[in-house]
Amino acid sequence: MTRINSQKVYGHMSYTVKELSAELGVDEKTCSRWIANGLKTIPGGKKPILMMGSDIKDFLRKKDAKKKVILNRNQFYCLTCKAARYARRGSIRELGGRKLGTCRVCNGKICRTI
Ligand SMILES: [Zn+2]
Repeated sequence: MTRINSQKVYGHMSYTVKELSAELGVDEKTCSRWIANGLKTIPGGKKPILMMGSDIKDFLRKKDAKKKVILNRNQFYCLTCKAARYARRGSIRELGGRKLGTCRVCNGKICRTI
């Protein structure tokens, strides 16, 4: 999962969807989805849609907090279930500072940073 760096957004500036996507390196569709999911826009209703940097920062901070999954010992983050899962026995291997394996629930990829 790529973490979005909200530090790149200035709180006192307003952004269009296009500017925001360029600044954060995300797709314009992603920005539109954020708006649909509750990212505040500047009222006025006219295009282009504008968002305040401070609202964007708030939204991204809350989004990250919601996404945080606490892993127990021996648990992994499943990229398919998007939750903490145990690995299938014998599936764990190390790769460049991470442990990878297979999810016990869905057989999807799971990983954990060591
Ligand atoms: Zn899974």
